[in-house]
Amino acid sequence: MPATLIDGKAAAAALREQVAEEARAFQAAAGRHAGLAVVLVGDDPASAVYVGSKEKATRTAGMAGQVHRLSADIDQPTLMALIDRLNADPAVDGILVQLPLPAGLDSDAVIAAVDPAKDVDGFHPLNVGRLASGLPALVPCTPKGCIFLLRQQLGSLSGLDAVVIGRSAIVGRPMAQLLLTESCTVTIAHSRTRDLPAIVSRADIVVAAVGRPEMVRGDWLKPGATVIDVGINRVEGRLVGDVAFDEAMTVAGAVTPVPGGVGPMTIAVLLANTVEAARRREGLA
Ligand code: NDP
Repeated sequence: MPATLIDGKAAAAALREQVAEEARAFQAAAGRHAGLAVVLVGDDPASAVYVGSKEKATRTAGMAGQVHRLSADIDQPTLMALIDRLNADPAVDGILVQLPLPAGLDSDAVIAAVDPAKDVDGFHPLNVGRLASGLPALVPCTPKGCIFLLRQQLGSLSGLDAVVIGRSAIVGRPMAQLLLTESCTVTIAHSRTRDLPAIVSRADIVVAAVGRPEMVRGDWLKPGATVIDVGINRVEGRLVGDVAFDEAMTVAGAVTPVPGGVGPMTIAVLLANTVEAARRREGLA
């Protein structure tokens, strides 16, 4: 029996519909639209595409979107002044600075300058700390989307063995924290990990967030495992994940495809985080 294909597109569409409903309810209660401000510095083509999709999705969900496009040679004080203005703007509930920033700009300083209550990417140290302490927080979108898919597939995750491959601040670390919050037993693997196949073979849940095409092989997996492939790698003009998809489909219980798995969830969760931030700011949460 081949594994179940986890349909991230369908899950994202359902979540976006739910968020649109929450956005309508927010508008009725607060008398204004929930607002997301996106800051794009420079002309990196991939970033421009991501920002364009975020802008469109924000409008479709019935929220107010604004995009601030700044040239690559902007200086740090000008960027910080924009963040200050957005922090002070009552119509802005969420602020997202598209990363990476061009060389010469200090991303850590920019992330730390965003009002934690508007930090819909969940990268501010205060939100990182709250997540690590098990407190309510704005949580990074991609790992939160992965949890959404896992819960949809498995129901309760309590007691399951989970391996997260990758320890980045954007995906791996928050993913591990969220799995811990779901009462999984969590192992975090990275480039120094010894005998990764043996570690993966014990896992009920495998989350691959590495950026190495098809690194995780089918014969590493525990039969029936649920595999979440976060990786996006371009190989000979097509996109592949960090998991050897065809091999995984013959061993696992369920697998996310690339594309069409985790990717579509990220923007849907960004919108959900924005409504959540808006509700909290208006005392409606
Ligand atoms: P990073 O490059 O920041 O992190 C990669 C991690 O993988 C590091 O922790 C690194 O370990 C680890 N690693 C590298 N080589 C190995 C190895 N041989 N064995 C085990 N671990 C290894 O990447 P990101 O977390 O930002 O992204 C990961 C992938 O997810 C990328 O393909 C990216 O494109 C994709 N992505 C997809 C998103 C989506 O919406 N679907 C959103 C964000 C990212 P170490 O720390 O030791 O160097």
